[in-house]
Amino acid sequence: KLINDPGASQVLAKLTEAGYEAYLVGGCVRDAVLQRPIKDVDIATSALPEQVMQLFHRTVPTGLQHGTVTVLMAQGTYEVTTFRKEAAYEGFRRPASVEYISDLTEDLKRRDFTMNAMAMDEAGDLLDPFGGQEDLTAGVLRCVGVAEERFGEDALRMLRCIRFASTYDLEIEASTWQALLANAPLLRHIAMERVRSELQRMVEGPAPARAVRLLLASGLLGHLKKQLPLPFEAWLAWDVALDAVSALDEQHDRWAMLLMLLEVPADVVRAALQELTFSRADGLAVAGVLALREAVAAQIIEEDPAPLERVWKLGAVRSGEAAARALLRLLRELPQGDGKRGELARFMGVAAPALLRRGEVWLKEVPCFSLKALAISGEDVATALDRQPGPWMGQLLQGLLERAALGEIPNEREALIYAAQAAK
Ligand code: ATP
Ligand code: MG
Repeated sequence: KLINDPGASQVLAKLTEAGYEAYLVGGCVRDAVLQRPIKDVDIATSALPEQVMQLFHRTVPTGLQHGTVTVLMAQGTYEVTTFRKEAAYEGFRRPASVEYISDLTEDLKRRDFTMNAMAMDEAGDLLDPFGGQEDLTAGVLRCVGVAEERFGEDALRMLRCIRFASTYDLEIEASTWQALLANAPLLRHIAMERVRSELQRMVEGPAPARAVRLLLASGLLGHLKKQLPLPFEAWLAWDVALDAVSALDEQHDRWAMLLMLLEVPADVVRAALQELTFSRADGLAVAGVLALREAVAAQIIEEDPAPLERVWKLGAVRSGEAAARALLRLLRELPQGDGKRGELARFMGVAAPALLRRGEVWLKEVPCFSLKALAISGEDVATALDRQPGPWMGQLLQGLLERAALGEIPNEREALIYAAQAAK
């Protein structure tokens, strides 16, 4: 038996004993066939949602508009969805309403790819009317039915196509790829949140470089220009660096690397991430790394990289220690000096080698990166100078912080108060 999940078996058994049909479907069957770890187990059944709710003690109507009831078992939760076909597609998205049917094959037919349109019964037998297993064995990703129609019904499937091709290392079958190229303009109808979720899974998956290359070849991202005015073609010039992305473990680092290669201002990147519905914290973390590189690069002139230590330490205080460490991780993975031109290539040639040699040590020398780590507070300063708190205080403290970070004043209370008085 390919799927050994006692909870799922119990759900299937109970449904079939009550006279309904019930099967494991979708991603869990695909992953089982591939002998990969299974994430969530989805079940399809001929029972109607209210019948499912009557049959099991603990259920939650998580998606009644799609015919989905979540069944809670001791082993975990299972999404049980009534066989359905989708009512007419509207606006190139999956429709909100569904029509229940009694036939499994009809249900499998509405699914996106052959490998996602397999089912498994209680006995562990595979039901595979569209040849998903054969395609998987051949390493082929193919739409169920006529690809041209499937992408027209739901444009999100084009991103899923590239996501699956990259994360499962599959070749996209020719007519599926042709249909994707033909329907690419429809991507603009898809909500940014769903676009983001797919892109995130590509970037965070095992083969981000392949995903990027497929995205570029498909022209999909170009159809999001209104929301994401970024020069994605710039990636074409950084082929080796694209391959380096998967060497980065942290997801923020991967995004920062990819976006750094576009060579646009950090502000533009921050706006794009916001447009993609990333959280504010994610946006700041990623764009912060680019802002730091930008700040350092702006002050380093080719002939005279001498003041790099000062610029680096100040930049690290302004952007934060985390951003500085992240930038070093990116630089370590970026191939240097392969004859490219442009601002980033120049930075890689001049400042990056020195940062790679000394950046880490310089960070260790910085005694404090934030006002919280500074040995005096705003209150201390106000008392010492006998002044009312006000905007002046923040500026003064920031000045003290930066001097302490550079080692010009020790990060000690007495010395800092003395410096505050002198600064006044
Ligand atoms: P994973 O969870 O690893 O992303 P999955 O295949 O389980 O993969 P889900 O989004 O969880 O993907 O969807 C479950 C199943 O629903 C899919 O296997 C597929 O059969 C079907 N499905 C999901 N999204 C679509 C879609 N946009 N068009 C057609 N069928 C879809
Ligand atoms: Mg799933």
